[in-house]
Amino acid sequence: MSKSDSPSIFSMIIDRKIPADIVFESDSVIAFRDINPKAPVHLLVVPKNPDFQNVSELAAASPELLAELVATAKKLADEYTGGEYRLIFNEGASAGQTVFHVHAHVLGGGLTEDSLGD
Ligand code: 5GP
Repeated sequence: MSKSDSPSIFSMIIDRKIPADIVFESDSVIAFRDINPKAPVHLLVVPKNPDFQNVSELAAASPELLAELVATAKKLADEYTGGEYRLIFNEGASAGQTVFHVHAHVLGGGLTEDSLGD
């Protein structure tokens, strides 16, 4: 799959070109609230490096960064959902992926079946 030349919507959030409700930021990872939440708590955890379109690419190229993403998701879930949560990576348009800059969905705080996806 070819990478787009234009920055992803998440790169624009990272660069503060568009606003977001940012809940965590480190040198390598950012997390913010999803604009269209599917659960009372719906966070997106995103590596700042825009080179990876999906979790498989990230796992193959940088397992350490993937581990950091998962650890960040857990830390935020402890803070926002009491530590029980659903962690989702969509991969591919037909699976519901709309932003091709890898990101984890952290869902919690009262899940319903709708929280599984669209
Ligand atoms: P995907 O469908 O690629 O797995 O997830 C992309 C997510 O990004 C969707 O849940 C969508 O609501 C969210 N999203 C899309 N654009 C924006 C935006 O501009 N700001 C925020 N905070 N979330 C966004």
